[in-house]
Amino acid sequence: MDIRNCRKCGRIFQYSGESPVICDNCKREQEKLFEQVRDYIRDNPGASMNQVSEENSVSINQIQQWVREERLEFSRESGVTFYCEKCGAPIRTGRFCNNCKNAMAQDLDSMYKKPVTAVPHKRRTERDAMRFMGKQDI
Ligand SMILES: [Zn+2]
Ligand SMILES: [Zn+2]
Repeated sequence: MDIRNCRKCGRIFQYSGESPVICDNCKREQEKLFEQVRDYIRDNPGASMNQVSEENSVSINQIQQWVREERLEFSRESGVTFYCEKCGAPIRTGRFCNNCKNAMAQDLDSMYKKPVTAVPHKRRTERDAMRFMGKQDI
């Protein structure tokens, strides 16, 4: 059992291993706050980051974290822009632009797939070759 102090309220609670280290109470509070901010941005698409932060008593850091988690997205009118952590291109939500995301997904794909696909592919061609030779024999 992992007992920790909640990073938000300091209360001791049983930590389940998920980050961040906050208690269930604070998690619920944070969820409520998130919904409030999300609704606020939806209703006030032109609101700046400072405005959202002040009107909802939520830190800019927290807002930025939600955006990085792709849970929040600022509209074009807001003038709030985030930048891809890889290439610096302006993005609306998340941590990377679509180009970098696709490139990274492909990298991951090829890293992951190469050893797996190489073997059955070879086997298949060997089998095909054998079948082909068998046909020729007849
Ligand atoms: Zn707490
Ligand atoms: Zn990028």
